[in-house]
Amino acid sequence: MAEAREVVIVGAGFAGLGCARELAKHDDDVHVTLIDRNNYHQFLPLLYQVATYQLAPVDVSADLRQLFRKHRNVSVKLGEVAAIDPAAKTVTMEDGQTFAGDYLVLAAGSRANFFDTPGAEHVFPLYSLDDAKRLRARILAVFEDAEQDPSRVEEGALNFVIVGAGATGTEVAGAIAELIRHVLPSRFHDLALEKARVIMVDLGDAVLGPFSPKAHDYASKVLTKDGVEIRLGTSVKEIAADHVVLSDGDRIPTHCVVWGGGIKAGQLAETSGLKQGRGGRIDVQPDLTVADQAGIYAVGDIANIPDPGGKPYPQLGSVALQAGVWAGKNILAEVEGKQRSTFDYHDKGIMAMIGRNAAIAEMGEHRHELHGPVAFAAWLGVHAWLMSGTRQRVDAFISWSWDYFRKLDGPEELDSSDAARIDWGDNDGD
Ligand SMILES: Cc1cc2nc3c(=O)[nH]c(=O)nc-3n(C[C@H](O)[C@H](O)[C@H](O)COP(=O)(O)OP(=O)(O)OC[C@H]3O[C@@H](n4cnc5c(N)ncnc54)[C@H](O)[C@@H]3O)c2cc1C
Repeated sequence: MAEAREVVIVGAGFAGLGCARELAKHDDDVHVTLIDRNNYHQFLPLLYQVATYQLAPVDVSADLRQLFRKHRNVSVKLGEVAAIDPAAKTVTMEDGQTFAGDYLVLAAGSRANFFDTPGAEHVFPLYSLDDAKRLRARILAVFEDAEQDPSRVEEGALNFVIVGAGATGTEVAGAIAELIRHVLPSRFHDLALEKARVIMVDLGDAVLGPFSPKAHDYASKVLTKDGVEIRLGTSVKEIAADHVVLSDGDRIPTHCVVWGGGIKAGQLAETSGLKQGRGGRIDVQPDLTVADQAGIYAVGDIANIPDPGGKPYPQLGSVALQAGVWAGKNILAEVEGKQRSTFDYHDKGIMAMIGRNAAIAEMGEHRHELHGPVAFAAWLGVHAWLMSGTRQRVDAFISWSWDYFRKLDGPEELDSSDAARIDWGDNDGD
């Protein structure tokens, strides 16, 4: 029997995990080295629920070693990949360790794009579980500190600025508004919560841009009813520790600016020397390989994967997961001396959760549009499918959804150990 071929996968997000799972079933043919900077898979679509106390951090992560415990042909490696050499098909870690493969699968995802906005170091992005935990701590801290010194409310302590009115911005804005209206009143009896403001800012002219005009209106109405102030056609010019300045000159005092304003490919795309296209992503061929680079695949958010019309597929969990599985199948085809095939994406649609019982789903290739509880059910189904293979997490997710659907009071408890103190510049908050 021929020796198993070595596959090195960088990144254990939807794409990397999909690929590793597919290859794990073929232990005679391949050995997989799956590398990630975390020893867990993080489920990005539910980060905002963690940030707003609807889910616990453990509910949106899955232990990689546990996931592959029954597959001895998959070795999980924890660490930061510092460089890749496509010609040599090697991956070098920050500590200098090197992994070589017959095939490299680049699945390192994306990161926030701050578009050189001054003061971006003060924002709270939402692209990893650590980001979600940081934001969660900040949200609780501003309420605790305002409770301690109510004059801080007048200084804008309870102002939340959300940059970006895409799916991430909309979901975060809706969830913070809901926290303020439905959850915190029973926890903070003496705080003037009616003075809290959630301000969502976007340079574009619609909420949830990629959705239909009907969906834009629906999302705007639901958010406005929940008290979210929507500022379209406006960008954030400058961010500081205690305020933001908008393009119309408005200065808003705030200690919590959430960034949902755009993404670009992960750092490795830049340093790989591979051809980058839109958003700094690595251009791949329809079969997910990089042209003129034998054995190199790029999948998920890090890649520009062309659809049959030549346009890149959107950066979505379902695209990443299906592309990862497909790359695995193509690698197995190569190992068996067969032809690789063109990635065939099954479009599940696009969806966003705006608040309790208020979701939008545009299903399938024909974008059949759903709003309200039916859309919530569709959102639930697709996200449970994305989580498949992590049974415990699906159970936790379903139980959260059921509670969320029925209850008015929100999560059982706010984790008070979270609240990280803020420097208010008056020595009171230290
Ligand atoms: C807040 C938010 C909400 C979203 N909501 C939805 C949604 O509702 N539906 C939907 O379909 N999509 C949603 N998306 C998009 C979806 O999550 C992404 O398209 C998907 O995660 C991309 O998968 P990926 O495997 O390419 O990258 P990722 O899931 O980002 O995984 C990349 C992995 O690579 C690892 N990594 C990166 N660089 C290195 C390195 N140098 N060394 C080691 N490891 C590294 C990271 O730790 C990570 O585990 C959302 C994204 C965000 C941020």
